[in-house]
Amino acid sequence: MPAPRRVPTSVEPPAPRIHPTAIIEQDVHLGAGCAIWDNVHVRRGTTLGAECIVGEKTHISYDVRIGNRVKINAFVYICTGVTIEDGVMVCAGCVFTNDRTPRATSSDLSHLRTSEPDEHTTLTTVREGATLGARSVIGSDLTIGRFAMIGMGSVVTKSVPDFHLALGNPARIAGCVCRCGKILFRLGHERSIGPSVQRCTACGLQYRMARGVLSEMPQHGEDADDGVGSPSGHAAK
Ligand SMILES: [Zn+2]
Repeated sequence: MPAPRRVPTSVEPPAPRIHPTAIIEQDVHLGAGCAIWDNVHVRRGTTLGAECIVGEKTHISYDVRIGNRVKINAFVYICTGVTIEDGVMVCAGCVFTNDRTPRATSSDLSHLRTSEPDEHTTLTTVREGATLGARSVIGSDLTIGRFAMIGMGSVVTKSVPDFHLALGNPARIAGCVCRCGKILFRLGHERSIGPSVQRCTACGLQYRMARGVLSEMPQHGEDADDGVGSPSGHAAK
């Protein structure tokens, strides 16, 4: 007797979960599986991809673009002009900015300046996989690179390259980090450049440093079925 045939079923993607105290304005798109916690406010025109988590009392302003599986902790402020790519971690209390010379009013103090984007509004992009530490402040007109890591309490005033660690106020490059988050090596007064090839002691991924740029190296056997712990899932795109 033949085995019963499996009937394919269509699975609806999970609807976003929104706490009743959250304010989600018009024209906001929340991807499947998003979780929006209490007292979050998402302003009009903003898009979040699938499976994002937005922690309590976070504010996301107009027309912000947020990718898939972005984790945003509590008490975060994200302003207009910010783009956050897939897989970014935004830790608690992180604040974005979008104006290098903000003023409340016109020069003669006679009227309020607009809260809408204007010629003073500058853009910030956080590339995929990056981490912004707790209570960090992210300046505008800059890019945080892929898998970069910003230390807690840092004030970022310049772009940070891919896989680089930036710390302090103003934030300075302090080393390089793996996709997994482990520090590959530190850059300091005694060591202005790391060895040319670096291997992560935690996950085995390898990187090449050349002229200050850290890039991923092809992983050996990345096509082999070598089971748990394989770096194959981390192959460079
Ligand atoms: Zn690693």
